[in-house]
Amino acid sequence: MDGVIADFFGCLSRQYSVSNWKKLLDPKDKTQFKKHVTDDVYGSDFFSNIKKFEDTDNLIKLVNKYSKNGYTLLTKPFPGDEKHTQKQKIIWVEKHLIDLPPKKIIFENNKEKWATKKNGDMNISNILIDDLNLNCENFQNKGGISIRYQSGIDTLEYVENKLKQINF
Ligand SMILES: [Mg+2]
Repeated sequence: MDGVIADFFGCLSRQYSVSNWKKLLDPKDKTQFKKHVTDDVYGSDFFSNIKKFEDTDNLIKLVNKYSKNGYTLLTKPFPGDEKHTQKQKIIWVEKHLIDLPPKKIIFENNKEKWATKKNGDMNISNILIDDLNLNCENFQNKGGISIRYQSGIDTLEYVENKLKQINF
């Protein structure tokens, strides 16, 4: 979701007037944001107000076209404010993905848990589109197929070509 269809990092950078969102990470623990950021974001409506990317609607159309039974949103809740961000992200989806809503939203810290699905005795690979290399690698190591896509950097043509190469 964030970095793919919702401009989380851009919104965060603009809110705090920094050139790169990484400047908002806690220097002592880079997996966490600085306290003044979490103080603002926790419990707030920040996540439901994140802007869409220019390509978001077309990416959703594309994904929907290639997923015969609809697509699923797999997203990680904001650490430390999990329950609240889940509600906020649902509001975002209801606001922004009206035309082609996901068939399901899964909140998950370890995306690779969803790398495959059972179909009878067979394990079928799921396809992940994610902006983080690590998520893509972990997903693939567990038998899934991943397409790394960073909105604003990668093109939709690139995603479509990757999807075409996959044998559904
Ligand atoms: Mg992301």
